[in-house]
Amino acid sequence: MELLGVIGNPISHSLSPLMHNTAFKKIKKQALYVPMLVDSKQLTDAIYGARALGFTGINVTVPYKEQVLANLTDLSEEAKAIKSVNTILFKENSIIGHSTDGAGFIQAVNHDLKYDLAQKKVLVAGAGGAARAIVYHLLRHGCHIYVANRTNERAKKLVSEFDSRDSRLTVIDISDSEIDRIIPMVDVVVNTTPVGMSTAKDQVPLSTQKLTDKHTVIDIIYNPIETQLLKLAKAKGCRTQNGLGMLVWQAALAWEFWWGISPPLDIMYETVKTAVKDK
Ligand code: NAP
Repeated sequence: MELLGVIGNPISHSLSPLMHNTAFKKIKKQALYVPMLVDSKQLTDAIYGARALGFTGINVTVPYKEQVLANLTDLSEEAKAIKSVNTILFKENSIIGHSTDGAGFIQAVNHDLKYDLAQKKVLVAGAGGAARAIVYHLLRHGCHIYVANRTNERAKKLVSEFDSRDSRLTVIDISDSEIDRIIPMVDVVVNTTPVGMSTAKDQVPLSTQKLTDKHTVIDIIYNPIETQLLKLAKAKGCRTQNGLGMLVWQAALAWEFWWGISPPLDIMYETVKTAVKDK
């Protein structure tokens, strides 16, 4: 039996154990995926402990995607660029970190929305870890990106971490007037902030005033399945997508990283969709 899991804090809300274990059962894979609540002071012990216990690999979630880098011997090119790791593979003499978040986002848009992001103009709300992973891939797709964040300094930092001279990456203010000025110039709007979930579920991360049916609006939140932003965008005729696809695809790409195989995607989608509806 192979062992896998996810470390984070909190962790009880994570849908990853259910999603992976259902997929293992479906294809009769002898593997078990467990949620692991880890205290920040014990992160190093947890990583080495998982290796000592013979885990094949683990996922890493909030708040350890950056902190964990210090415990790894090798990083994929992507993890190195965005300084974030959500997937670890244990090998005999190495602990390898990778990030599947950004590629998971792109795959979900390709497959679920049948939408090609290449060369598109994209407005990204938020400048945290998820935004960094997504921006990395959007740049590789030749997109022109506007980043708007509550804390403008953080958006500037994100841009400087890539290449501040790259004219395809621009920081803009998140004020309604600036968003209303930029939205008519973009094809896609992506929300990477938590605005739209839990206590902020009735709020939107940015002004929706200028959205029209020419826009594609993607919210990486998956609980609720349809955020206030997506509801308003849909009412204006926009093409919309929630975060379930990204959740499933980042997991699928972790399978590729651990074993070089694809999981049963349909069963994973169905499992997480039902779990979110039942919450
Ligand atoms: P993070 O690194 O903590 O970044 C959060 C970002 O959201 C920051 O830019 C922050 O702005 C902004 N923000 C937070 N609260 C806000 C508020 N009340 N009003 C305006 N802006 C606010 O988090 P993350 O890892 O990027 O994750 C962000 C979201 O993406 C979470 O909801 C997470 O669940 C979701 N996510 C989904 C998937 C998926 O598979 N679908 C994968 C990864 C993440 P400041 O800089 O001003 O604090």
